[in-house]
Amino acid sequence: MDKIDRSAALHHDTDKPFKLWMPKRVVFTADAMKEPYGQQIHERITSYNLPVEVAKNNRVTGLRGKDDRETYRIAKNTLAIVNAPPSAMNLRPIPPSADWQYHLAEGCPAHCQYCYLAGSLPGPPAIRVFANLPQILERTKRYQRLGQPVSYEASCYTDPLSLEHLTGGLCESIRFFAEQPFTHLRFVTKFDNVEPLLQLAHNRQTRFRCSLNAEVVAKRLEGGTSGITTRIHALRKMALPKTQGGGGYPVGIVLAPIIPIPEWVIHYSALLDQVSAALNFETDLTFELITHRFTPGSRDTLLSWYPNTSLDFSEDLRSIKRNKFGGQKYVFVKELMKEMRLYFEGEIARRFPKAKILYWT
Ligand code: SF4
Repeated sequence: MDKIDRSAALHHDTDKPFKLWMPKRVVFTADAMKEPYGQQIHERITSYNLPVEVAKNNRVTGLRGKDDRETYRIAKNTLAIVNAPPSAMNLRPIPPSADWQYHLAEGCPAHCQYCYLAGSLPGPPAIRVFANLPQILERTKRYQRLGQPVSYEASCYTDPLSLEHLTGGLCESIRFFAEQPFTHLRFVTKFDNVEPLLQLAHNRQTRFRCSLNAEVVAKRLEGGTSGITTRIHALRKMALPKTQGGGGYPVGIVLAPIIPIPEWVIHYSALLDQVSAALNFETDLTFELITHRFTPGSRDTLLSWYPNTSLDFSEDLRSIKRNKFGGQKYVFVKELMKEMRLYFEGEIARRFPKAKILYWT
């Protein structure tokens, strides 16, 4: 497993100032430019003085380099504004996180060496934002059930807050769901630029979840994201009541991926202590606990993107879990899973007695 310095667990004030992502290349497809929301994004992006191309057709080209690493570099620096295809209007279920997937974008500008998107999205990992968002939102109404709660997950294929300064799509979504009775929007992020969200009328129908990890894991593996301390400050701001200058949102913590690094109990205890100190007021808080796992396909993709990663992709301490479609993934062996689960459930219950653990996986 990874060799990680124990002392780093105790230092929480070392976050570097975080800069919002600015793509090196922005491409609008012809159809995206016809959409009023696409034009709004165009205005925002030109206000940042970013170079903008408008394609003559609906294809985004020029994303491939001479090898996988160059393709990765080019694609991760490219923001494409496109229309989501008609197939994206048919929402798919996403248990256990929510009832339905809801996509306002695909791809993410960060560089997490375990990224969940590797192997899920085909082709070069460019960031695609959907200019026909109003239609996508409208379409979600078909999935509502009279008088019954229904939830939509906005982070299946992106980190929506990472793009918010360029698109405004998350604010649009929060406002939209606030007006739909019984609907709930959920998203998770490793970013901290929450200011535009604080004043929105969300009607407590959006849950802001913060993705956290032991600081040493985040520093080593989560390139291009906000630091852990900064994320926790953002979580506090989002959870604080509006009367105290916060956003008054229901909030959550997604601990992922949980990795049994050397002295993992010390590292994760430091993290839980830090969160507990920041959330020192009454709040509606949930936890989702996700251990590190990978498929053979995602491992190949990640090793081609990050050949020098210190993340352990070996099959030591792993067992194979098969799904009903014949796919397989590597998860930690049963004894280790049990030990970690006991620790996390116990420590969370002790520090956050009112919080709900939604699932362990
Ligand atoms: Fe992938 Fe999430 Fe990291 Fe983005 S923030 S690179 S989506 S794991």
